[in-house]
Amino acid sequence: MSRSLDAFATEKLDGLEARGLRRHLTVTERTGPIEILRGGRRLISFSCNDYLNLSQHPALKQAAKDAVDRLGVGSGASRLVTGDHPLLPELEARLARLKGTEDCCVMGSGFLTNTGVIPALIAEDDLVLADELSHACIIAGGRLSKGTQRLFRHNDLGHLRDLLAENRADHPRCLIATDGVFSMDGDLAPVHDMAALAAEFDAWLLTDDAHGIGVVGAGGRGSTFAGGTKAEVDLQMGTLSKAVGGYGGYLCASKAVIDLMKTRCRTLIYSTGLPPATVAAAIAALDIIEGDPEYAARPLKKARRFTTRLGLPPAESPIVPILLGDTARTMAAQSRLESAGYLVVGIRPPTVPEGTARLRLTFTARHEDADIDRLADLIAGTILTGEKPFRASS
Ligand SMILES: *Cc1c(COP(=O)(O)O)cnc(C)c1O
Repeated sequence: MSRSLDAFATEKLDGLEARGLRRHLTVTERTGPIEILRGGRRLISFSCNDYLNLSQHPALKQAAKDAVDRLGVGSGASRLVTGDHPLLPELEARLARLKGTEDCCVMGSGFLTNTGVIPALIAEDDLVLADELSHACIIAGGRLSKGTQRLFRHNDLGHLRDLLAENRADHPRCLIATDGVFSMDGDLAPVHDMAALAAEFDAWLLTDDAHGIGVVGAGGRGSTFAGGTKAEVDLQMGTLSKAVGGYGGYLCASKAVIDLMKTRCRTLIYSTGLPPATVAAAIAALDIIEGDPEYAARPLKKARRFTTRLGLPPAESPIVPILLGDTARTMAAQSRLESAGYLVVGIRPPTVPEGTARLRLTFTARHEDADIDRLADLIAGTILTGEKPFRASS
C-alpha cells in the first residue's frame, strides 16, 4: 500500500473540507413518487430529476420485470459483440420518432454519450465552441477530442458569432455544443437562433437535452421543439435517467451520423450495452410521454406555480435555482429546509461557478400544490428574508 498515495488523498480532502467543498454520499431510499427516506426521516424531495415520477411507475416496473424474465439481467458484452438485444432497435426507433430524426443510437449513459460522440466527430485540427455553463460531460468530451475548445458566454449569441468569425476559418470542422435546458439554471438555450448561426458558419450543432426530453416542448419532445417549431439541430443527445425514469443515454441524428457512431464512438464500442430491463422500462416511459401530453406538461406548470409565488421570473423548465452565492449559507439553507421535511440539495462549486452556490429545486408531475406553496413561503420567510431572489442568467 502506497503511503504517499494516502497522504496525497488526505491532504486534498483536508483542503476541500476547509473550503466547505468536501462531498459525502448519503444513503437515501426512494420510497414513493416524491418521498425519500434519509437518516431515518421521511422527506419530500425537490431534488430528483425524475420529473414525471416514472422511476416508480407500475408500468415501467412491470416492463423491467418482464424483460428480466425473458432476456436476463445483464447484456453480456458490448452492443457490437453480443449485447444488441431486440429491445434496443425498438427503443431507438421510438426515440428517433419523438425527436424527429432519421435515426438514433442508445448508449450507456448521457455522460458516455457526450464523451464518445464529440471525439468521434472532432479531431486535433478541429474546433469545439461550448456554452460556459454546459454540463461537465460536454466539456469532458471536448477535451477528449484533442481539438481546440473555447467557451462562449452563457447564451450569448453575439459572443458565439465573434468566436466563429475569428476562428472558424482556421479549422476544417467546428462543433457548437450546449445544454438545451441548463441543468443547474433551468433556462433554455436559444436553439433556433443558434442553429441559424451554425448553418451560416458551416458548424455542427449538438444540444444536450438531458433535462428537456419528456418535459419541455409540446408533448415532451425537448428543447428542439420549444416555441412550437422544430429547430435544425444536427445532434440531439440526452439521457434516459431523468424524465424517462431509468438509465442510459442516446444520440438522435441522421442515419449517416448514427452509422458512423456504430463504427467510431469509443464509449459505445468499448462499453457493455444497457441491461434489457432498463431498455424495456424506457420504452414503457415513452408510451406514457407520447400518450399523455398533458401529463408531460405538468412539471413545468408546477415550477411556474413556485416562481410566481416567490416573485421569480417564470420557470422555463422544471428546474428552478435560488442563488445564494455563499457556499456555507447554501448548505445551511439545505439543512434548514431538511428539518422542515423537504429535501432541497445545495449545489456548490465546481458544479456551478465560484460565488454562485445555490439551492436547486426540481418540480415533478406528482408534487402537491400545497407542498409547493408551503416550501415557497418557507424559503421566502426564512432564507430570503430582506433580499430579492435573483437568477444567475438574468
Ligand atoms: C445528467 C446530465 C447528463 C448525464 O447524463 P447521465 O445519463 O446521468 O450520465 C448529461 N448532460 C446533462 C445536461 C445532464 O444534466
